[in-house]
Amino acid sequence: DHGLSEADPEVCEIISKEKDRQYKSLELIASENFTSRAVMEAVGSCLTNKYSEGLPGKRYYGGNEYIDELETLCQKRALAAFHLDENEWGVNVQPLSGSPANFEVYTAILNPHDRIMGLDLPHGGHLSHGFMTPKRRVSGTSIYFESMPYRLDESAGLVDYDMLEKTATLFRPKLIIAGASAYPRDFDYPRMRKIADAVGAFLMMDMAHISGLVAASVVADPFEYCDIVTTTTHKSLRGPRGGMIFFKKEPVLGVDLESAINNAVFPGLQGGPHNHTIGGLAVCLKHAQSPEFKAYQDRVVSNCRALASRMIELGYKLVSGGSDNHLVLVDLRPLGIDGARVEKILDMASITLNKNSVPGDKSALVPGGIRIGSPAMTTRGFTEKEFIAVADFIHEGVQITLEAKQLVKGSKLQDFMKVVTSPDFTLLNTVSD
Ligand code: PLP
Repeated sequence: DHGLSEADPEVCEIISKEKDRQYKSLELIASENFTSRAVMEAVGSCLTNKYSEGLPGKRYYGGNEYIDELETLCQKRALAAFHLDENEWGVNVQPLSGSPANFEVYTAILNPHDRIMGLDLPHGGHLSHGFMTPKRRVSGTSIYFESMPYRLDESAGLVDYDMLEKTATLFRPKLIIAGASAYPRDFDYPRMRKIADAVGAFLMMDMAHISGLVAASVVADPFEYCDIVTTTTHKSLRGPRGGMIFFKKEPVLGVDLESAINNAVFPGLQGGPHNHTIGGLAVCLKHAQSPEFKAYQDRVVSNCRALASRMIELGYKLVSGGSDNHLVLVDLRPLGIDGARVEKILDMASITLNKNSVPGDKSALVPGGIRIGSPAMTTRGFTEKEFIAVADFIHEGVQITLEAKQLVKGSKLQDFMKVVTSPDFTLLNTVSD
């Protein structure tokens, strides 16, 4: 049995190039992070070899004594990491990722074509919260359920709770979903709870982006108000790629969430759990209870604030005017430039972030903003000083994008990309080291 470099030099080489890219670039994608060596060791272990359909003590395969021990430990650590009482909350640690976790919740508590309300994707929500366009039901969550998204108040850049309340009163959803992929502020859980109660809906929070911040108590606690909380495990929580579903143990609206959710995960939508991921997740959740993790999350937030303040000083407009969490959303439209072009130019300078729609955008392919996150570079040791420098680099990139746009005849994105990727394009050489 050979190691990777001998068994498959081709794949080994690709991994090595990707490792180099991750090491050398400024990683500012808000949903990414660098997990620990200990987590990666567990993910790369023999746990991947084992089938264990079912739950600890109730498996469909033999040989699961250690897997049972592992999954039980992972569940206990998950509840402890989020300060939950085992008598009040349960957790399923088997979801393969965030989108499956959400779909599993929907199939657990809803019937096909029941109504759901989540934050609209162009306003910061996630695909799996029921995304559809006027022409197409894009996400499976809008194909199998009837979705009526709520939105932001465009001028304030904040969730329009009054409109959510009005729409919910008419639409009468069975589920209201809090949580987002590009929202720089906390959700108002007490207000959402009140709206859900008034219309007889479940309230779920998808805390994927901020679960590390929730564990460290640096943002509001969704568990105080929600019936169900889902999360990915690989973003601010800094674990392996995976998902979790937390549920109240007491029945809600007459539904036993524990059995409904466990059955939706298996046998409803999944087969065997990915035990290597559960191993990595257990390692991550031990670390998430440490003082170092709390200090890390404090820095994620203070670094993001430093970045936001510098962008404002440099004259940029931020959606909602700032940030309470790990990300900022910059509205580039006042400069006459879009997020797609800026993303491309910054990518060429090894600054990795993503174009993002901002409230009022017409096009999702050429959106008017960029999203910048602090978790990954905070893991790499960046402090406020470095994040201020990051803002200055981004500013240089925006200036270059504006100059490059001038050079391109016609303003088509494709023409722009052709020009900036040609060997004759030298503007980038002017970027600071
Ligand atoms: N929920 C939110 C809020 C997200 O931002 C994401 C991913 O970015 C997901 C769910 C989906 O997670 P996954 O990509 O693991 O399916």
